[in-house]
Amino acid sequence: MLTQKQMENFAELAVRVGANMQKGQEVVIRCDVQCKDFAHLIAEKAYEFGAKRVHIQWRDEVLDRINMLNADIDSLCEVPDISLRAQNKYFIKNKVCLIAISTEDPNKLKGCDPDKVAAAEVARLKADKDRRQATMSNYLRWTIVSIPTRAWASQVFPDLDPEQAVDKMWDAIGHIMRLDADNPTEAWRQHIATLHRRAAFLNAHNFEYIHMTNKSGTDLTVGLATDHVWIAAEEEGQDGVPFTANMPTEEIFTAPHNRKINGTVVNALPLVNNGNVIDNFSITFKDGKVVDYKAEVGYDALKGILSADEGVLSLGEIALIGKNSPIAESGVLFFNTLFDENASCHLAFGASYPTTVKDGNALTPKQLKERGMNSSIQHVDFMVGTKDIDIDGIDYDGNVVPLFRDGEWII
Ligand code: ZN
Ligand code: ZN
Repeated sequence: MLTQKQMENFAELAVRVGANMQKGQEVVIRCDVQCKDFAHLIAEKAYEFGAKRVHIQWRDEVLDRINMLNADIDSLCEVPDISLRAQNKYFIKNKVCLIAISTEDPNKLKGCDPDKVAAAEVARLKADKDRRQATMSNYLRWTIVSIPTRAWASQVFPDLDPEQAVDKMWDAIGHIMRLDADNPTEAWRQHIATLHRRAAFLNAHNFEYIHMTNKSGTDLTVGLATDHVWIAAEEEGQDGVPFTANMPTEEIFTAPHNRKINGTVVNALPLVNNGNVIDNFSITFKDGKVVDYKAEVGYDALKGILSADEGVLSLGEIALIGKNSPIAESGVLFFNTLFDENASCHLAFGASYPTTVKDGNALTPKQLKERGMNSSIQHVDFMVGTKDIDIDGIDYDGNVVPLFRDGEWII
């Protein structure tokens, strides 16, 4: 369990390092109803550092499940304007910063009709499009943090009773979030500096391709978007104010070229999406597109993800993380992208971030496409960084620069 002081430090990290809320700004906390105590702590910290107003956009995963089991597919696909579009319009107009608390129960939709789940997800993504555009382009500053819930902790530590599982997960998250440091905000500043040094190395080399291989069958060449930019930890909002979108974050990432991906990649960790677990899968690409895929666990769910639209069949992100990151070291599989994606190198099906190409926010959709940037309503990360993965960068002259050996950075 964390002490009250550590909880306050955690809330402060979300406000000051994560969203980097500025004095006089409005804040929106997005979270499940189970997180109300931590949400209130964040709200108090936000006011302590000068927030103008704090709003909360509640989600309720138990109600999500009740709806999924009882409503018909047409009603599930109608997203009333009042529930999302109108709120998003206000948030964008008033340039709020967003703090999401991610706590999804990996099994919340277990046993629900996969067609309904996929259709409702597409409808929700469409209704939520404006906010996602505003955050993905850094028009609004945003961050995601995470805390244990009983359902989630019980899935992560199935042998413990729910109370103990929650305690154990708090311990893991406390270490991962550097809340055991004397000054967590300072510890985060140092960590961010290391990530930025590596990102600068990758940017200086301007690789044409990244090549990954391992013993489980991965042999994948990922072309990088023309004029791509590697980004780590802190990004800059369109207003010039830095922020850290994911906390924790260990990744350095950029945009693949969506016509230059070839070979096969095998997953390293299960992919948890919408309450479904997909595992032991492999994906084969040719000229940037998925041409074949297999999955021993959750094939239908994988098929559902890959049916969202045309763009989901290519990649929008490649991210590098060493196996010695505190999350990977913890050895805990969280069944939650925020943690698991930071435990392992990953790729993402679907949209790329406009910020991962030079002047991306000023480019037209046509110009983005020419650079190999991918567009889709989806963005789904999946983990590929095994402990034995070797990764090289290959520049435009064909020079090969080793980046990873046996799962860890060597630069
Ligand atoms: Zn990522
Ligand atoms: Zn991602």
